[in-house]
Amino acid sequence: MISEREAAKYPFLKEATSLVETLNIKVEDLANPNYSRILDRGERRVSEAIIDGIVGNGVPDDLTELLSMPVAIMLVSAVGDRFLERRYAHAEAARAQKLLWSESEAFIAELAKRQFGWEIKYARRELDEQTYLFEVGFVDYLRNAGSFHEDKWKLVNRVLSGGRVLLTRMEVIRLLQVEVEDFVLGRVSKHIRVEIPETVQARVENISKLFEEHRRRISGAELPPEAVSEAFPPCIKHAFEGLLSGRRASHMERFALTSFLVNSGMDLEQILQLFVSVTDFDEQLTKYQIEHIAGLRGSRTRYTPPNCATMRTHGVCYNPDIYCKGVKHPLTYYKRRVQSIKGGEKTSLGITGSNHQGGI
Ligand code: SF4
Repeated sequence: MISEREAAKYPFLKEATSLVETLNIKVEDLANPNYSRILDRGERRVSEAIIDGIVGNGVPDDLTELLSMPVAIMLVSAVGDRFLERRYAHAEAARAQKLLWSESEAFIAELAKRQFGWEIKYARRELDEQTYLFEVGFVDYLRNAGSFHEDKWKLVNRVLSGGRVLLTRMEVIRLLQVEVEDFVLGRVSKHIRVEIPETVQARVENISKLFEEHRRRISGAELPPEAVSEAFPPCIKHAFEGLLSGRRASHMERFALTSFLVNSGMDLEQILQLFVSVTDFDEQLTKYQIEHIAGLRGSRTRYTPPNCATMRTHGVCYNPDIYCKGVKHPLTYYKRRVQSIKGGEKTSLGITGSNHQGGI
């Protein structure tokens, strides 16, 4: 039987969810002032996700802490904003990762097995000055590491033994973070139609307002004045918001975004800072790739994003809008929008068609 403390620490666990279900609390019950502490904590989970990008350690009262997560999920789902849903799921996963750092290997392995059905075993191995503590089935490994970009996660670069991948403690916790994020995202994006009491609806509005205040900060208003985020084409806006909310993107999407930002005149250091939020971020590697795209490294070719046809082929053309009509290239879209936003002021964007060769 799970302790209330463990359930409060890991409210996404099946046993924690069953504990909540046994309490049989209905949405309409939340209007009762006796539940205001749970609503307060639920609302705070979401505001911490919006402001800090990670949910904090929470209140000492385990039951309030446990019940605050389903409440937070209901509040985020009621707002119904995909970007907020991703931001919240990412923040709950970051919290779980931090808590797992102080757990035993036995606890970590048991959680992976019981909660996510992993094939995992504790096995200490010293290889090439690296200490591996776990062996994980490659199916579970690929399901979670598949979209990571760093070469170290590629299966060809991993040590396998009997069909299982050898992993360090931190690597297992990183993969569990992905599982938690997917779990929470699955829950918040289920928009179940429920009658929300007025007092709770007021909290939904608080969160929506807070998110709008921070959306600009989270998704780009800090951009230097020369990069006009309002003029970004839908494909680039989607890639940009996805990057900041922790969504894992394809190579083509990251290349299109980076080469677009490079050509929108954005400072390379600022582009690098954007990637900071990507949890498998490797500063040296990303810096090299950005400078390569900007023509400062390698073949000294300055790359531009792919044209719209190629973006469509790779499934990166997202939700084209009226300004996409007759546009063959995202930078053409951007140039036209900048002009109409700045009231016809000429910009110096030299669009030469696509001389990109992929890869970031
Ligand atoms: S049509 Fe072009 S600019 Fe518009 S969303 Fe698609 S790729 Fe982007």
